[in-house]
Amino acid sequence: MRFSKLRLNGFKSFVDPTDLIIADGLTGVVGPNGCGKSNLLEALRWVMGENRAKAMRGGGMEDVIFAGTATRPARNFAEVSLQIDNFDRLAPAAFNDSDNLEVVRRITRDAGSAYKVSTKDVRARDVQMLFADASTGAHSPALVRQGQISELINAKPKARRRILEEAAGISGLYQRRHEAELKLKGAETNLVRVDDVVEQLASQLSQLARQARQAARYREIGDALRQAEGMLLYRRWREADEGLIAAAGQLRERTVAAAAAEKEALQATTARQLAEEALPALREEEAIAAAVLQRLMVQRDTLSEQESRAVETIATLESRIEQLTKDMEREGGLNRDAGETIERLEWEAAEIAKAGVGHEDALEEANDGAREGAAKLQEREDDLQTLTEDVARLAARHQSAKRLLDDSRTTLEKNETEAARAKEAM
Ligand code: ATP
Repeated sequence: MRFSKLRLNGFKSFVDPTDLIIADGLTGVVGPNGCGKSNLLEALRWVMGENRAKAMRGGGMEDVIFAGTATRPARNFAEVSLQIDNFDRLAPAAFNDSDNLEVVRRITRDAGSAYKVSTKDVRARDVQMLFADASTGAHSPALVRQGQISELINAKPKARRRILEEAAGISGLYQRRHEAELKLKGAETNLVRVDDVVEQLASQLSQLARQARQAARYREIGDALRQAEGMLLYRRWREADEGLIAAAGQLRERTVAAAAAEKEALQATTARQLAEEALPALREEEAIAAAVLQRLMVQRDTLSEQESRAVETIATLESRIEQLTKDMEREGGLNRDAGETIERLEWEAAEIAKAGVGHEDALEEANDGAREGAAKLQEREDDLQTLTEDVARLAARHQSAKRLLDDSRTTLEKNETEAARAKEAM
C-alpha cells in the first residue's frame, strides 16, 4: 500500500484546497516554523481514523476546522482525502476492486465526522482496519511526531514490541484478535443469557401446553359456534328470503294500489278542477240564495208579525163575536119580551075595544102606547139588524183573517223549506 496524494481542504491552516503529491522515493516538506508542516502529518493521521483530539493538538475534534484569521472567516467543515495506490491489490476484500483507493474524512461543525472509501460511506472502524492491515494507521509508530523519538528511546519493552509487530505486519491481526475476543466474550454472555432464556422457556412451555389445550378447546368451541352461527345465519337468510318474497308481493299490491290511488287522485283532481270551474257559478247562486234567504227571512219575520197580529185580531174578534152572541141572545130576549108586550098590548087593545066606545082617548092613548111600543120594537129590530150585520161582517172578517193566517202559515212553511234547502246548498 502506497500513498500517492494527500488533499486538504479547510483543515487547520490549509483553508484552501491543497494537494500534497507523494511521489516515488523520498518526499520532504520544508518550511519555516509555523508554516504547517506538522499539520500535514496530523492530516495524514486524522484521515486514517485518529479520534483523540489531544493527538491533534486541540481541545475538541472540531478544532481541526480552519478557525479563521483577521482577513478570512472561519470554515464550517474540514476535509482530508488520501489517495492510495492499490495496484498490488493488498487492500481488504471489501475495498479491493480498483487500482486506486481514495479515503476521505470530513468533519462538519455540530455534525461530527464521516468517512468514505472510494465514494462509499464506511465506518471509522473500517478505515482503521484498512490501515491496520497495512501495518500503518493513526497510532502506527511509522508516523513519528515531534518528540516521539526520545519517547521511543525511553520506551518500555511492551511499546517496543508494538513497533516490532508493526514492522512484522501483524498489528492488524492483533486488532482482529482483540475484536474476536470481544465477540467471543459477547457470545459467551449471550450463551449464559440463552440458558436463562431456555429455563424461562421451559417454564413457559408448560403454560403454553395448557394454553394450547385451551386453544384446542377454544377451536372446538369456535367451530361449534361458527357452525351454530352458520345455521343461524342460514335460518335468518331463509327468513329474510321469505320476508323478501312477501315484501315483493306486498310491494306489487301496494304498487297496484298506488296506481289505483293515483288514478283516483287524477279523477279527484279532475273533479276538483270541474268543481273549481263550477265554483264561481255556485258562489253566485249561493249569493243569490243567501239574498233570497235574507229576503225570505225578512218576509218570514213580517209574516210572523202579521200572524201574531192576526191571532190577536182573531182573539179580539172571537171575544167580540162572543160578546155579540151574548148581545144577540140578550136582544133576542128583549125581542121576545117586546113581542109578548105587543101581544099583551094587542090583547089589551082588543079588550079595550071590546070595553066600548068612548074610550077614544083611552084608545088613542093605547094606540099611542101601541105606536110607541111599535116604534120601540122597530128600534129594537133596527138594533138587531145592525147587530146582525155587525156579526156577519165580523164573521166575514174572521173568515178573511183565518184565510190570511192559513195563507201566511203556508207561505211561512214554504219559505222555511226553501231556507233549509238554501242552507244545505251552501
Ligand atoms: P514548527 O516547524 O515550529 O514545528 P510547523 O511548520 O510544523 O512549525 P505547524 O505546527 O504545523 O507548523 O502549524 C502551526 C500553524 O498552524 C500555526 O500558525 C497555527 O496558527 C496554524 N493553525 C493550527 N490550527 C489552526 C486552525 N484550526 N485554524 C487556523 N490555523 C491553525
